Amino acid sequence: MPDPVPLPTAILFDLDDTLLDTTLSATRVWDQTAAAFAHEIGHPPSVFQPVLKASRAWFWGDAKRNQAGRLDVQASRIAVTHHGLLQLGIDDRGLAARFADHYSAHRVSTMAFFAGAEQTLKFFVDAGVPLALITNGDARGQREKVEHFDLARYFQAVLIEGELGFGKPDPRVYAQALSACGVPAVGAWCVGDSLSWEVAAPQALGLRGVWNDWAGVGLPEDTDVRPDQTVRCVADLVPLSK
Ligand SMILES: [Mg+2]
Repeated sequence: MPDPVPLPTAILFDLDDTLLDTTLSATRVWDQTAAAFAHEIGHPPSVFQPVLKASRAWFWGDAKRNQAGRLDVQASRIAVTHHGLLQLGIDDRGLAARFADHYSAHRVSTMAFFAGAEQTLKFFVDAGVPLALITNGDARGQREKVEHFDLARYFQAVLIEGELGFGKPDPRVYAQALSACGVPAVGAWCVGDSLSWEVAAPQALGLRGVWNDWAGVGLPEDTDVRPDQTVRCVADLVPLSK
């Protein structure tokens, strides 16, 4: 058990794969949608699910597609599906669009807080620590999550890339969040699963960078980023703070 560290002056929380089980729940919805469309596609879910998985990796693995895709998630879902269908010899954009619509309709309702995440927010709020939510992604999709999980009540500011017109790792995001919390960078924490967005960039500004290694994969060998703290879930932050 690491030594307890002093309570932070503020915490900037990431949303996806930090408070919410975004990646795990996405797989559930893709798999359910593949099952729902199996008859129309003409292939069982056991065939289309791995194709879709590879298609998602193809789509999001490209930096340019990644940036454009997260600001227009519906277009990204259609592109992922269409690319997957093409692998099966099916060139049908209409089918891809209906598939993506079905996925989108079930997306947020299948997401969940990681175990203990909401209690962690309550712990810090009760301890008088101001919190800010900083999340990259499109305005509509990210706002829908904030509303579905009634998150705004915990935060001094909810900063969404698609609403601001800029996102992490732009220093203005962290500055705006710190300003809403009324604190300087030193003494504040940033917590998230992205080593560049929630560890390296905020560290460069003087914040403590806490990496949420939710998948338990450990630091990649090819990274120079060194988190000040690594946790498996945000609930691990509570016993660390005394
Ligand atoms: Mg994240």
